[in-house]
Order: sequence, then C-alpha cells, then structure tokens
Amino acid sequence: MKSIPYGRQDVNETDIQAVIEVLRSDWLTQGPAVERFEQAVADYCGAGFAVATCNATAALHLACRALELGPGDMLWTSPNSFVASANCALYCGAAVDFVDIDPRTYNMSVEALEDKLALAEKQGRLPKIVVPVHFAGQACDMRAIRALAERYGFRIIEDASHAIGGSYRGERVGSGRYADITVFSFHPVKLITTGEGGMALTNDSGLARRLHRLRSHGISREPEAMRQAPEGLWYYEQIELGFNYRLTDIQAALGLSQLQRLDGFVERRHELARRYDVLLAGLPVIAPWRHPDAHSAFHLYVIRLRLDTISRTRREVFAALREAGIGVNVHYIPIHTQPYYRQLGFMPGAFPQAEKYYAAAITLPLYPQLRAEEQDRVCSALCEAVA
Ligand SMILES: *Cc1c(COP(=O)(O)O)cnc(C)c1O
Repeated sequence: MKSIPYGRQDVNETDIQAVIEVLRSDWLTQGPAVERFEQAVADYCGAGFAVATCNATAALHLACRALELGPGDMLWTSPNSFVASANCALYCGAAVDFVDIDPRTYNMSVEALEDKLALAEKQGRLPKIVVPVHFAGQACDMRAIRALAERYGFRIIEDASHAIGGSYRGERVGSGRYADITVFSFHPVKLITTGEGGMALTNDSGLARRLHRLRSHGISREPEAMRQAPEGLWYYEQIELGFNYRLTDIQAALGLSQLQRLDGFVERRHELARRYDVLLAGLPVIAPWRHPDAHSAFHLYVIRLRLDTISRTRREVFAALREAGIGVNVHYIPIHTQPYYRQLGFMPGAFPQAEKYYAAAITLPLYPQLRAEEQDRVCSALCEAVA
C-alpha cells in the first residue's frame, strides 16, 4: 500500500500553465510576476507592503536586519518552532532566548512572556524583538503581545510560516495590525507553495523600502536614497550590506496561481480536521484545541498521546505508524535542546511546557488532497498502535 505523507502540495494544471507562461516570457528572475504576487498577497491580507524572498528563513533574516537587530541585542521566540525562528537572530550577531509555551495552544505563553519581561526589565536585558510563531496555523494572542510590546518597547516579527489563510479576531493574519513585520513560507508542505519561497509583509513604508534594498545586495536605484549625484542612467549605489534573497518570476507565477485556491485549501483542511476530531474521539489522545479568537489555517494536525493511560511510548507509537505506511512527523523538537543551542548554554528543562508537549506530540497527515479513506487508515493504524 502507498504510504501517506504528513503534508503534500496541491499543484494543478492551472498552476502548471502559469509557470509555463513565465518560462516563455522575457523575465525569469524577479520581475513583473513577483510584483503581482506581492501585491496579491498584500491585498489578500490587507497589508500595505509585501516583499517576496527566496524562502521564509531569508525573510526572517531581512526582517531582523530591517529592524536593526545586531550585536548586543536580544530576540525572543518560542522554543516550539522550526530552528529558523531563532537562527535569524544569530545571523545578525544578536542573542536568542525563548519564552515557554501555553499548554493548550502550544503557542508562546503570554503569561510566561509577561513574567520574563518583568524580570528582564529589572536586569536591563529586555529584548529588541519578539517573534511569536503561529503554531500549526493558529494565531498567537497578538493583542496581548502587542500591549506588552508597547509597554516594554520591543518590536514584533510574526513568524506566520504556518498561518497564511488564517485569521485572528476577524482579520487575516498578515494584516499588520499587531506586528511590525509578518513572515510567510511557501515551502511545499506549507499552505501554498512556490517550491521554495517566503514573504515579509509590513504597513510601514520605511521598513518596506529597507526590506527591498536588503533583499538585493543593499543596492538602491532610487535617486532620493543616493549619497552621490547619479553619474548616468546606469548608476546605482550600494548603501548597506545586503543579500541576494530574491524570488524568481517562475516561482511567483506558481504562488500567484496557488493563492487563488488558498481559501479552498484552508476550508478543506478544516473539514479534514473536524473529521479527525470525530474519528479520534475514543482514543487516548488530545486533539488540537481551537482558540475562540483565531481561525487556524490548519497547517498541521497535532495530537498528544495520553502517555499515562497507555502502555506504549511515543517512540513505539510513532514507529508503528511509520511501519503502517503513515507519514507521521513531530513538530517540534524544542529549539533550545538542539546541540547547537546547548553549546550556546541552553539546558534541557529550561522550558518545561515545550518539552512536556514535545514528549507526547505526533503530527498526523493533513493536506487538501488527503482522502477520507486515507484518513480512516491513519486512525485505525493509530488505534492499533496505542492498544
Ligand atoms: C517552514 C518554517 C520556516 C522556514 O521556512 P522556509 O521557507 O523553509 O525557509 C520558519 N519558521 C517556521 C515556523 C516554519 O514552519
């Protein structure tokens, strides 16, 4: 029997035709399709500006640079995330710290953040940037985090890699009501894809201009940004040290086409999630909790095993599922327990909620084309594995 992956892109004939059209056009690298994709995502989210990048990791790096994160500064994020949410600070020569998670949403805990900020203020070690991660596609408590940002003076980069298509308090994630910069990922396992790709959204025109410039080597062609008089029509200036983090028009065409189907993808993910809820109801597992303020994009469907009520370990259950051809996964190994982070001084035990969550978590397959029969197969395999 064919094994079921945990996530899979949904690329149709229309997407393919859109890419082919670009391949026949004059532009392959960043050009008119990238601009159209940026405008479409900005319009979809209700944001002022969008800057496409070669991946979300690059967008996080640019966001940190645009907010002037550097040596001596501190960035805080969630330990329950992909390593990129923290690495972006280290790229800038800044330090990282983590805020433990809420045991119900698995997102950064606002209470833990508040406590840590109060302590950091006394010690004179407040963060310059906080990166809330909308885990599994469900938005963090952004209103509360924003209030803390105003009180303690930090900036907010939302890592919304899981959350394009989701909303919070009636507004799309990415609207920029609460965050300075929002980052999306278009990796194939995420909600929509460009192969590899990312985007940074903001409502601040100055930040947008900075993100643009940093994306392409720190070079400007805007006469008003230049330090010297233009020497001719060929003239450009490198004003700061930037990167080549551009997206191609080939990728943007795919993204633009995918964006038209995003709402349908999210709806289908919810339908499948509700079906999982029902199928799993009698099993010794904890299903995802829905926060009333958020409409999740449902990037992931994560269950936690009630390990105290079964005689199997998570490792055994996971292995049995893989053996049955079910492409389960685990999101995430707490970042601070990675060898690279331990070597920076982080210790296991430092963020107990994230570690407790991790010890029992399993991500079940969830993607728009997952069929009901396949979902039934996942659930019966799980039922057997926990017995
Ligand atoms: C996927 C992911 C990233 C990195 O995205 P890329 O586009 O692969 O660079 C960053 N943060 C989170 C939470 C992610 O899930």
